[in-house]
Amino acid sequence: MQITEIYKSLQGESTHAGLPCVFVRLMGCNLRCSWCDSEYTFTGGHKMSIDEVLSEVERLSPSGGLHPNLVEITGGEPMLQEREVVPLMQRLLQANYTVLIETSGERPLDKVPAAVIKIVDVKCPHSGEPDTFRIENIETLRPHDEIKFVLSTRGDYEFACDFSAKHNLAAKVNAVLFSPAFRKDASGRRDAAHCLLNPQELAEWMLADNVPARLGLQLHKFIWDPAVKGV
Ligand code: SF4
Repeated sequence: MQITEIYKSLQGESTHAGLPCVFVRLMGCNLRCSWCDSEYTFTGGHKMSIDEVLSEVERLSPSGGLHPNLVEITGGEPMLQEREVVPLMQRLLQANYTVLIETSGERPLDKVPAAVIKIVDVKCPHSGEPDTFRIENIETLRPHDEIKFVLSTRGDYEFACDFSAKHNLAAKVNAVLFSPAFRKDASGRRDAAHCLLNPQELAEWMLADNVPARLGLQLHKFIWDPAVKGV
């Protein structure tokens, strides 16, 4: 499979935020979100076999058993390499890793092994890639999965509220995440001024509307310079 990078960092998003995690970042994406911070995955990368990926994950994995041994498959869009990534996830599960996959949900997700935790990023109207979520993927959601909406405007927020309510997401998955988009050219200061939607404003909307969702911030962008890759 074509890999951009494999590295260890803290999980920055989802209900696993703050835990050590090994990230396997696959090359390539078929979408072009306006705020994408992973454009460096669109080209390049290097070929690795499943065995090579597994041995690199094993080398980087935190040991000691205090945390679930987290591995996140991400990209780019990892499901573009379904033929290799599905067996990779099966091998990781067999080796007792807790496996997350971050995906846009534009590709079919029915082949993702049941024990893998899917974090599905449903694209909002102002992402530049609206209506790309494959609606059949709703049927693949399991109680341990998470749905994320990256928001840059009030219109995105309203879309996320409506979509969540229409599909009863709060009852279907472990977490519905509302996350302010970060400026893709953000660098230097590690603060919320880089968010395209003010987190305070978003928090106040969510409280006022009693939204059954969790506000998510990209933790790694408040720890390291937002321009730094591989963290
Ligand atoms: S789906 Fe992810 S990697 Fe692809 S363009 Fe959108 S944010 Fe970037």
